[in-house]
Amino acid sequence: MKKLMAANWKMFKTLEDAMNTAREIVTGAGRLPEDREVLIIPPFTALKSVGEVMAGADNYFLGAQNFYPSEQGAFTGEICPEQLADLGADFALVGHSERRHVLGEDDEFLNSKVRFGLDSGLRVILCIGETLEERKDGRVREVLDAQLENCLAGVDRKLGPENLVVAYEPVWAIGTGEVAENKDILEAHKMVREKMRELLEKADEMRILYGGSVKPENCAEIISLDNVNGVLVGGASLRGDSFSQIALA
Ligand code: PEP
Repeated sequence: MKKLMAANWKMFKTLEDAMNTAREIVTGAGRLPEDREVLIIPPFTALKSVGEVMAGADNYFLGAQNFYPSEQGAFTGEICPEQLADLGADFALVGHSERRHVLGEDDEFLNSKVRFGLDSGLRVILCIGETLEERKDGRVREVLDAQLENCLAGVDRKLGPENLVVAYEPVWAIGTGEVAENKDILEAHKMVREKMRELLEKADEMRILYGGSVKPENCAEIISLDNVNGVLVGGASLRGDSFSQIALA
């Protein structure tokens, strides 16, 4: 299974900055080893141009940070999968912790996004993860199970491994500099794999990414852990040199 190394640029970067960083990544990481794929998830404004920078580079993919689960319509400020496809996006994030906790998206809405995104041909990256309070209360398995069950409800059990990626991102580790310990990552990824096996026939072929303060210094160790099939990186993906090192870690 190829490791997926994903850069989420959130609401950072002007068009010029995004293109420069993408160029640095494509030249810095260069021709990727056989077992790697790189995914850049820029802001919408830079999707097309970043896609152009990556054109022709093997195993580099383009992703969107969000979309609205409808074909078209009166949804001011939103963007639909067909428009993302126009811009060249293959992947899209669903349920990133900032959308859950800052923008108030709940599992029911996220489920409609997962289903609509998949039906529209997007490769969905479903993000899940517990808060610090939930971890302290010993509720990690309960929370991850519920998020997976709720967000994947109604999804075809025979779904192909290329269509869905799950990203485990403990909320307390995102953007905080605090990385989960290896034993916590191992334990959580095992739980996620077990739950996915209940819900999806090809669960063992699907990738589970870890996200939460990944940087060049800790990436190699994290991706060597069982059931860790890549990383989703925020802060350390904003600089081309830093993300190139992560991509090749
Ligand atoms: C993220 O945005 O998904 C993330 C993991 O951010 P950071 O790497 O900055 O913790």
